Amino acid sequence: MIRTENLTKVYNGKAAVDGLDLEVGEGEIFGFLGPNGAGKSTTILMLTGMIEPTGGRCLVDGIEVAKDPLKVKEIIGYLPEDVGFYGNMTGEQNLDYFARFYGMGAKERKERIAELLELVRLDGVTQKAGEYSRGMKQRLGLAQALINDPKVLFLDEPTANLDPEGVREYRDLVERLAGEGKTIFVSSHILSEVREVCRTVGLLAKGRLVAQGTLDEVARTLASPDGDAVRIVVETRERLPEIEDPEVISVERNGSRAIVRAKADIRDRLAETLFEQGVHVRELRVEEPDIEDVFMAAYRR
Ligand code: ADP
Repeated sequence: MIRTENLTKVYNGKAAVDGLDLEVGEGEIFGFLGPNGAGKSTTILMLTGMIEPTGGRCLVDGIEVAKDPLKVKEIIGYLPEDVGFYGNMTGEQNLDYFARFYGMGAKERKERIAELLELVRLDGVTQKAGEYSRGMKQRLGLAQALINDPKVLFLDEPTANLDPEGVREYRDLVERLAGEGKTIFVSSHILSEVREVCRTVGLLAKGRLVAQGTLDEVARTLASPDGDAVRIVVETRERLPEIEDPEVISVERNGSRAIVRAKADIRDRLAETLFEQGVHVRELRVEEPDIEDVFMAAYRR
């Protein structure tokens, strides 16, 4: 549903986004992770047709964004990092103003807006948007992003400045929207926020994609210097014999336990070999790296 090919944006001779190749499937909740300044907002601005790439291209639902930005805008919703509203108008009036850009008729606007205000729990609120709390503004922003019932939703740091209650509501809402089949692209510099809702993530650093996949896959890639080596913990009753397997990279022994680093998950073969040699296996498992640790280390790097 979303694809970038060698996507690049250069500001003042410096690449903010540097040859990005990204792919997000339909119905996915994709977490775009990276420290501040990594190039997340710049990427989203190119994906939503707000700015043009210096090089490469991006496609949303097969449409090349830079070539046909209006067509793309019809099928996407975008919640910017700092969403702005007319402070002297109510939430409903703000949404109505915005809905006119989509050429929606009066009746359609009224129905859609009522539905959305209820969805983001702002129905019945008569305050002007200028008097809204940060959380309320964020919820109104989400309603605005949904006005055209988009196929793809881009959320830029949606939970920044939300309180824990607001974060929980936001998560429920995102799950619900994904349940309706929408593709959701959410950027964040906070891992814990992304790990709760996103099935797949991309990690961006200095404009480049460092890793992409499920959180476990990404953590594994980052954890091991040799790419996606699998760490297998083996504990045997007898002394562990030499392991001769072409997939094995190294064996680190510690008494009756060992950590086998291998190019693939060779647990089945290991179990068989050990059994054939009359060695009793007490434990045989793939060691998943601690995601927080791995990301923190990658961020520091
Ligand atoms: P993130 O969203 O990950 O925090 P940004 O995309 O906002 O990162 O910024 C990436 C880099 O590009 C930063 O170094 C930032 O200073 C630079 N940058 C972003 N927008 C502009 C701009 N309009 N002009 C010049 N430099 C910019």
